[in-house]
Amino acid sequence: MKVGLIGAGAWGKNLARVLHELGLLGAIAETRPDIQAELKKLYPGIPIYPDHRELLASDVPAVAIATPAATHFAIAKEALEAGKHVFVEKPLALNLKEAEALVALAQARRKVLMVGHLLLYQPAIRWIKDFLAQGGLGKLWSFHQERLNFGRVRTVENALWSLGVHDIAVLLFLIEEKPDRILAEGQRVLQPAVEDDVCLHFSFPSGIRAHLHCSWLWPEKQRSLTIIGEKGMLVFDEVQGTVVLHRKTITPTLTTDAQGSEVVFRNYGEPLKLELEHFVECIREGKTPLSDGKSALAVLEVLEEASRQLGGDVMSGKDYLVHESAHVDPGAKIGRGTKIWHFCHIMEGAEIGENCTLGQNVFVAKNVKIGNNVKIQNNVSVYEGVILEDYVFCGPSCVFTNVKTPRSAFPRNRSEDYVPTIVKKGATIGANATIVCGVTIGEWALVAAGAVVTKDVPPHALVAGVPARQIGWACHCGVRLKEEGAGLVCPSCGRRYRREGERIVLEESG
Ligand SMILES: [Zn+2]
Repeated sequence: MKVGLIGAGAWGKNLARVLHELGLLGAIAETRPDIQAELKKLYPGIPIYPDHRELLASDVPAVAIATPAATHFAIAKEALEAGKHVFVEKPLALNLKEAEALVALAQARRKVLMVGHLLLYQPAIRWIKDFLAQGGLGKLWSFHQERLNFGRVRTVENALWSLGVHDIAVLLFLIEEKPDRILAEGQRVLQPAVEDDVCLHFSFPSGIRAHLHCSWLWPEKQRSLTIIGEKGMLVFDEVQGTVVLHRKTITPTLTTDAQGSEVVFRNYGEPLKLELEHFVECIREGKTPLSDGKSALAVLEVLEEASRQLGGDVMSGKDYLVHESAHVDPGAKIGRGTKIWHFCHIMEGAEIGENCTLGQNVFVAKNVKIGNNVKIQNNVSVYEGVILEDYVFCGPSCVFTNVKTPRSAFPRNRSEDYVPTIVKKGATIGANATIVCGVTIGEWALVAAGAVVTKDVPPHALVAGVPARQIGWACHCGVRLKEEGAGLVCPSCGRRYRREGERIVLEESG
């Protein structure tokens, strides 16, 4: 049997390697040409598709999905609908509703749906599961998990979503109960809306308590699971790969009884290999995976409740950030790494690119298109008809209009009434400037603070005043250019420009 891999980027390349080692790699779908070229060298003879739909149309019976988290739901759904067994990296989806839909679809199609909760495939975890089932620790009292390290600091995912997901999967796998109470506490130290340090406390119906601490603001790498029971205590040190049994108990007279400690198990093998072998075994033998869709739902339930307690849906595993006070209407698209701060409102059909920042109280109307790396400062309304290309900067409280002749008594508020305004790549609009609709602001142009722009602005033009007039030229870097001979030069970065008619053009260096 062969498995098709969808997504061979940062983590996916590990899946490619392991599937290949196991003789299971049937095909790969990868959108990035540079990675495709690398894969062709590594895996000659394996079909590489630029589009996952081509892979789904091929005859591989199963797929593994390692694309960005935000795409898991859509691609897993397509794969199940195409009749494939599906392995999805964690998280299964970004919310419970989508995850439930996938579980139902897999059931209806009688396909295996497995989630990459990798820690469950550590042999040590399997060993601990058996040990506890045999009563090795007697009655269980508490579980303590730590996942701590110095960095790496994430900017859009909090410590719980980036570090704690696997631990929650392990906890629910070992305890086999749903928690009846969860208490989440987090601390935001380095960034205003991302928890660097999160503690989760669980109580389970059987009386077991559990505590999980995850942080990237910690001096040492610690990854451990400590289990306290009436007959002894167990410590799994993931960094060392050892399970230590402490024969330590407290007697009925409250004195300590320590009978020594020993390493009872050492981790072996590569969990990723064991995980993918398990996936194939489940397909071949019609078994339910250890980390099936339902177990992923239980993990997502915990994450959703914890995220709610930590402060709305601020960091619910999306690859962009929306502050809890902001509203993003369904149907709006927001790119990876984009940050949307307090009291913003993004309407349906709006498309915001990657790595943008929208400051406080920014409004983005229906169907507005905003490129990548755009910065919009506080109190800006981007009305329908406005297009902001990549790297546009909108200063605080700058104003766009979208109707030439507004009248309250003669409403002009249909899409066809709106006159388009285009702000080209790299352009800057200063604080409080007003851009009357219908104009185009050229690439890398600079509109001074307070200007009122009533006609097109050429590329690189520096305009100011009411109405705005051109008073000079701006460099790519934003600094005003100085005349030098027949051309212009930037006193800051040294870029040189020559005149071409009414415009200026960058001189190629060298
Ligand atoms: Zn410059």
